[in-house]
Amino acid sequence: MSFRQILSKTIKKEKKLCVSASNKNNLYPIPTYSKQVKQARVGSKIHNQILLFQTHLIKNKRKTRAEKDDYHLLQSEEQVVLLRLRTGHTRPNHHMATKLKLVPSPLCPCGKNQTAEHILQACPYHSALRDTTWPEETALQKKLYGPKEELERTARFALQSGLTI
Ligand SMILES: [Zn+2]
Repeated sequence: MSFRQILSKTIKKEKKLCVSASNKNNLYPIPTYSKQVKQARVGSKIHNQILLFQTHLIKNKRKTRAEKDDYHLLQSEEQVVLLRLRTGHTRPNHHMATKLKLVPSPLCPCGKNQTAEHILQACPYHSALRDTTWPEETALQKKLYGPKEELERTARFALQSGLTI
């Protein structure tokens, strides 16, 4: 194993330790790197990686809970769905027809514009799944930007809807 490989392995390990420690204590300790990592040449790729990660930890420590977006706590599959729903870069017909011109009609089979909001809030084709997912009426803002449980619910709904989001 080359020195570079050992370094990047060590960095990965230390990042994990930092993250698990910070999750446990809700603190973001500045990592103390091992001797090998300290030896990384100033200005080298690995050295820059360490600096970037330290900056990330410091910035995160300064943020209040409200500034943190629980989106980052989701599984990657859920993140992809959420991001598409938030940005409107979705596969449903409205975007496909108006922006990408890939399908002839922007309409949902129910006759309305098939936007992310339509699917999440209104489409009668998904009302059964919507009611089991959200037994109480929930605002679109909460579905897309709420706490982790809300975001997970939204992603689950989108994935279970059978639509290609
Ligand atoms: Zn519809």
